[in-house]
Amino acid sequence: MIVVMKQNATGAQVANVLARVEQLGCRVHLSEGEERTIIGVIGNGRPLDRERIERWEGVERTVPILRPFKLASRDFHPQDTVVSINGMAVGGRQLIVMAGPCSVESHDQLLEAAWAVKEAGGCVLRGGAFKPRSSPYSFQGLGEEGLRLLAQARAETGLPVVTEVMEPQLVPLVTTYADILQIGARNMQNYALLHAVGKAQRPVLLKRGLMSTIEELLMAAEYILSHGNDRVILCERGIRTFEKYTRNTLDISAVPMLKQLSHLPVIVDPSHGTGKWRLVEPVSRAAVAAGADGLLIEVHPHPEEALSDGAQSLRPDRFTSMMRGLRPVAEAVGRTL
Ligand code: PEP
Ligand code: MN
Repeated sequence: MIVVMKQNATGAQVANVLARVEQLGCRVHLSEGEERTIIGVIGNGRPLDRERIERWEGVERTVPILRPFKLASRDFHPQDTVVSINGMAVGGRQLIVMAGPCSVESHDQLLEAAWAVKEAGGCVLRGGAFKPRSSPYSFQGLGEEGLRLLAQARAETGLPVVTEVMEPQLVPLVTTYADILQIGARNMQNYALLHAVGKAQRPVLLKRGLMSTIEELLMAAEYILSHGNDRVILCERGIRTFEKYTRNTLDISAVPMLKQLSHLPVIVDPSHGTGKWRLVEPVSRAAVAAGADGLLIEVHPHPEEALSDGAQSLRPDRFTSMMRGLRPVAEAVGRTL
C-alpha cells in the first residue's frame, strides 16, 4: 500500500506514520518529493486497515497495491485450484455438470431426476432441502427428510450431492448428508454462515449474491478460505438489473474475469441466471465457451408440477439433448464433458 501524505504534512506527522506502520510489523519506503511525501508500506502478510490509516494526522489517502482478497487471488496462487469431490475434479479438464430439481419434493421425483441426470452425463445431483424462498407462503423445502432422500439417491445412483445450507447451526446436519455445501445467493454475505462453512470438512459452492459485485463474491470466498476451508467453487447465477424478460441478468463476463482474478473453479447456473428453460441450453453453451468449469442446472421430471422454479427447469429429455449439444462446444475449448 502507498500512504500519500497531505501537502502541508509536518515532519512530525510523517515520523508518526512511519513509526505506527512499523509497529504494525510492516517495512516502509519513504519518498520525499517536491510537492509531498509518500510512504510505501511493505506488508507483513496481513491486509492493512486502510480506513484506520487514513484517519491518522497528516495522511491524505492510501492507495492499495494488492487486491483485498489475498487467499482467493491468483497473484499469490498462480495455478488453478482443482477441488476434488469423491475422486472427481472440479476445475480440471473435465466439465462438471451438477443437475437436479430446485427442491427435493418426493422420493420418486428425486430418483427420476437423479437417474436422468446420471444417464445424460451429469456428475453431481443437486436438490434443495432447505429453500430460501422470497415468499414465506411458498414451499419451504422438506428439511431433514429432503436430506435423507438426497442421501438415498446418492446411494442408488452413486452421484455425489450438493444442497443448500441456510443457517450456521444447520451446517453440522447438512454436512452429514451432503458432499458439497451450497451457499445461496441470498446468503453470500451472511458472515456467520461463511464462517461456519469455512470450518466444515466439505467443499463449498458459493453463489454470487443478487446485487453483488465480482469483488464482493471474492471477498465472501476469502471468508471461507480464511477459516481454513480451501475447497471453494464460485458460481455465477445472474444479478438483478433493469431487464425484465429474464429473471436475472447472467454476467457471462464474470467467468473470464473471475478466472483472471482468482485460482478458484467457476461454474455457471443458467437456470437461475435466466429463469426460462428455453434459455438454459444457449446460455450453457456460452458459459462453457467462456471458460466455465461446470454448470448447475435445474432438471425436473414434470416441470409443470414443480413446487419451485418449474419455469426454468428442464425436462429430462431436454437435459439429455442439451448435454449432447454441449459436447462439441466443450471440445472446441479443450474440455471434455
Ligand atoms: C438454488 O440453487 O436453488 C437457489 C435458490 O439459487 P440462488 O441462491 O442462486 O437463488
Ligand atoms: Mn431454484
